[in-house]
Amino acid sequence: MNAIKRIVFTLFQPATLLLIVLFWAFFPASMLDKSWVITVISISTLLMVQGLEFINERHAGWRLNFREFLTDLFYVTLYFSVISTLETSLAEEPLGSAKQALGITTVWAMHLPFVAQVALALFVMEFGQYWLHRLMHNSFLWWTHAPHHHITQLNASKGLVGNPLELFLVSLSVIALFDLPLTAVFCAYNLTGAISAFAHANVRFYTPRWYAYLFTTVEPHSLHHTVGFAETRCNYANALILIDRMFGTFSPGEAAIVGQEERKRLSISQQFMFPLRPVIAMIKGNPDKRASASG
Ligand SMILES: [Zn+2]
Ligand SMILES: [Zn+2]
Repeated sequence: MNAIKRIVFTLFQPATLLLIVLFWAFFPASMLDKSWVITVISISTLLMVQGLEFINERHAGWRLNFREFLTDLFYVTLYFSVISTLETSLAEEPLGSAKQALGITTVWAMHLPFVAQVALALFVMEFGQYWLHRLMHNSFLWWTHAPHHHITQLNASKGLVGNPLELFLVSLSVIALFDLPLTAVFCAYNLTGAISAFAHANVRFYTPRWYAYLFTTVEPHSLHHTVGFAETRCNYANALILIDRMFGTFSPGEAAIVGQEERKRLSISQQFMFPLRPVIAMIKGNPDKRASASG
């Protein structure tokens, strides 16, 4: 039994990514290029990874309880309704219109093989996210990102737990500037969602080394969530840890104890109000130490 479990939890992450690519490559595009399809598949992927937490748990301290479940459910709902709608109407559609108005074309991208189109979309999205995330750890934008680092345990949907402004900002990308089939872009979204879910999940994977070299896994991402603020300044990539290796921010290791400021768990309202903390502190004439620490 243990041998089978070991094989399953060795192959699960790469096999899932392969299945996702095959699905988007071979299912009829006419059935897939509707936005509700990517939402249903993304949520199903999250549920599947969440289920794995009950089969091969990583840390008992990260076990999903009812309060954590409700919080995660709230953020999954928020993300796939409000945030993704705002993302489309405030960012992707205006960017697509600007592309048309300016006559920007990348026709060559339409002639690439499907796998190359997906790889291009994945890299473009991840490259932007890497730099924005890195900026968040090194500027005033930390105030929007800190709630994600106040989570005190990791679970499959925790990648979507944070301040709504941060969730909106980190989802921004310039992918709308590229001429790519919608199915290739959706495939890349599905892949980053799956990888991010694996990287936040309370699951003991026996990850192949080649996979951990390319893609973000729970080890480096848990280190990114460690308790010391300075120690969180590494392993920024959401899905492609290769980008951290390229820019010298990769740090090996892992953390079982996660959470900022003495692991103070925030309620949803505290997560929403968090970016106002420096303003409130200034009004009270009591500047928070963190304002300078985050610079
Ligand atoms: Zn971070
Ligand atoms: Zn995270």
